[in-house]
Amino acid sequence: MQVYRLPALSDNYIFLLHDPMQHIAAVVDPAEADLVLQQLAALDAPLVAIFNTHHHADHVGGNLKLLQRFPNAVVYGGAEDRGRIPGQQVFLQAGDRVSFGDREATVLFVPGHTRAHIAYYFPPIAAHTPGDLFCGDTLFAGGCGRLFEGTPAQMVDSLGQLRALPDNTNVWCAHEYTQKNLEFALTVDSTNVDLQQRLATVKAARSRNEATIPSNLGVEKQTNPFLRWDDQGVRSTVEAENAVQAFARLRGMKDRF
Ligand code: ZN
Ligand code: FE
Repeated sequence: MQVYRLPALSDNYIFLLHDPMQHIAAVVDPAEADLVLQQLAALDAPLVAIFNTHHHADHVGGNLKLLQRFPNAVVYGGAEDRGRIPGQQVFLQAGDRVSFGDREATVLFVPGHTRAHIAYYFPPIAAHTPGDLFCGDTLFAGGCGRLFEGTPAQMVDSLGQLRALPDNTNVWCAHEYTQKNLEFALTVDSTNVDLQQRLATVKAARSRNEATIPSNLGVEKQTNPFLRWDDQGVRSTVEAENAVQAFARLRGMKDRF
């Protein structure tokens, strides 16, 4: 499975999945259709699936136009998003499996950013190759999504599910927020050497206008404060007694950053 990262709108990424053997394509969170149609034409591959993580317009905006061109494409989304995702045909729950080409993803139910948000985790096909996580606006490189419809407790549970995945996982998140996220992270985890180095690398990449996605889940576990609620330093910075309180305080600070 080849993943093409298409920058869209102001800071979104659309991910186009291509299986060169079966000569088919799928798309994750098409913010808009035209970029996807161009890439499909360049690959000369039909679109067989649209995988949505949640109902926000910058993740589903291209659904209907893509369906017009590829009426046989199957539109997937979370069961709780019924009625909110244009063209949705499959209503997924935690533990469901979806296939694309030679890969099969497990569906994770990760509410918090919205009450219906799901993520797609494709385990590695062979030892020492990475898995692929499409997590929408739940986990970002160096950060996490805002809580629009969920509670801190839900988001801690959702991020905990993602944190439990193997380190060797590509994190395909839907926005280029990494530098700002890491600048915030440093304010609550200032002595973290891995974080300091990561911010320097990301700043250099962004000054060359390079994308920072995919990220690596192992790196996220070391440097993303929203996965580090049990780190003593982070927890004492926000004076929290437990994971949910630490998360809630971090999220509140980030909202005001
Ligand atoms: Zn969103
Ligand atoms: Fe978004």
